[in-house]
Amino acid sequence: MQPGIYPDIMINKISGYISAWAGANLSYAGRTELIKSVLQGVECFWLSILPTPAGVQAKIIKLCRNFLWSGKCNKNKRPLVAWRDITPPKIEGGLGIRNSKAWNKALLSKTMWDIQAKIDTLWVQWVHQIYMKYANFWEYQIKHDDSPLIKQVIALREEIIATERSQQAEAHKINQWMANGELNSKLAYEYFRPKAIKLQWPKVIWTNYATPKHAFIFWLAMKEKLLTKDRLHDPGANQLCSLCRTENETAEHFHLFFQCNFVRQVWNSIKRLARVPQISYDIKSSCQMVDQGSQRHGYPIQSKKAGHSLHHLFCMGSKKSQNI
Ligand SMILES: [Zn+2]
Repeated sequence: MQPGIYPDIMINKISGYISAWAGANLSYAGRTELIKSVLQGVECFWLSILPTPAGVQAKIIKLCRNFLWSGKCNKNKRPLVAWRDITPPKIEGGLGIRNSKAWNKALLSKTMWDIQAKIDTLWVQWVHQIYMKYANFWEYQIKHDDSPLIKQVIALREEIIATERSQQAEAHKINQWMANGELNSKLAYEYFRPKAIKLQWPKVIWTNYATPKHAFIFWLAMKEKLLTKDRLHDPGANQLCSLCRTENETAEHFHLFFQCNFVRQVWNSIKRLARVPQISYDIKSSCQMVDQGSQRHGYPIQSKKAGHSLHHLFCMGSKKSQNI
């Protein structure tokens, strides 16, 4: 295969899938699952057999980002949440879409392990014979005409040595990624991905019982990124709340979800029907309340109720403002 052709095949394959789904009217939650399962599956297949040329990862991220927020691969809609905040696992506040850069390093680690262990495959024998001339992998220095893959593997070796401070420590670290005699890419990925602190609120949102599109709206609300009127950044636009038509929508979804007179009546009804002792007046404390309630009555039903309520209040607000 000619150099430069494979990224085109990979990108065309991903764009092809997105174009096929473009008319399917999928929710954000549905698109997230397709990115995770299909698009990152295509990417993983190619990354595991060939090195990634510069710029290809950025193009794939752009395709996935466009698809998540606009439903199309070439429509560049302003993202509600930055991509770097989407890639952490759900428990750290993200959506668990894999970080391509870290995943690429995890797959390269597997290649690196195969080469240093001199595993008995034709390809590894060929690398040792042609490039390394049977030199010790840990002492091998790259040469100008080495293949891009060898250059990437050695650069990764140096990166891990720099972090772990010695070659022995690097070898020890890599041994921790072994499972059943093979390097496990998922364990390596955990090493390379950016880490954040674990949060309590994602446990309330992401339960098996929650409807995915409700959970996604709940997640956007926790990130304070729902497109309520105060966030539309249009100075000339009418800021009046569409539900009560008496007050303006205020920052952090405060009015639409909690302060609005109309919404308070809805919450009071929910309070009676769901037998919730009290209703809180901001998104973070309501999440804490659901969490405490869940400890008594179990997560599924409490978080399902909360996600459902937020989703319907938001839909009601946006439909009324568009006079739907
Ligand atoms: Zn209102």
